[in-house]
Amino acid sequence: MRYAVAGLAAAAFLVGGVASPVHGATADAGAGRPLEGRVVVIDPGHQLGNHNFPREINRPVPAGGFDKPCNTTGTATNGGYPEATFAWRVSRALEARLERLGAKVRLTRDTNSERRWGPCVDDRGRAGNKVHADAKISVHGDGSYAAGARGFHVIAPTDRRPWTHDIYRPSKRLAIDTRAALKTHGLRVANYIAGGDGLDFRSDLGTLNLSNIPTVMVELGNMRNASDAHRMTSPHGRQTYAAALADAVRRFLGR
Ligand SMILES: [Zn+2]
Repeated sequence: MRYAVAGLAAAAFLVGGVASPVHGATADAGAGRPLEGRVVVIDPGHQLGNHNFPREINRPVPAGGFDKPCNTTGTATNGGYPEATFAWRVSRALEARLERLGAKVRLTRDTNSERRWGPCVDDRGRAGNKVHADAKISVHGDGSYAAGARGFHVIAPTDRRPWTHDIYRPSKRLAIDTRAALKTHGLRVANYIAGGDGLDFRSDLGTLNLSNIPTVMVELGNMRNASDAHRMTSPHGRQTYAAALADAVRRFLGR
């Protein structure tokens, strides 16, 4: 579905370029589409309805040499704004930005619905493999009750042979690019994650372990913190996150 839409856009662009070559339209339009030919997977966190399907969500699935529950419910702000909805809206805004830059975008879920669940972490983990995507970003918000805990952090896989040995190095580069882009957009590194540098390396996440393409998971803010929640629940704030993540992809794929 998303491929079809992206394909139509690409076809229209080509027709437009051919129709007006004397104006240099092809070259100009090409310069504005730096991600042309690239494929990016966006994983918009937990499905909104996960809490309505405990049996399905708790079913063990492969996660990279061990089993884990299919998915979790995610967190929310103290005001009740769900992580699922935050991740969904940031992901759709990011999708639009990446498509304007020429990328083909594939999302791991097509709805944000109380009547749906999943996909499980093994499906999320493998989502970019068959389509040979260039990168995958999994979008989340955190839920720490620690006093004053706020800010973003970027999670990349450790070298977990054989699962992530092929991708842990480029995934670390993607994580560093993502951190730089988020900081450039005025966002602050988390003050409650060990190390304090905004990067976290984990071996226990199926979404990362099962990927054969460079991937990171971003916890864009702490939904239980009032100032982070203020940004995460505002359309302007979510556009800031989406703009930063689009820049992260450009930095990473622009090498
Ligand atoms: Zn989450």
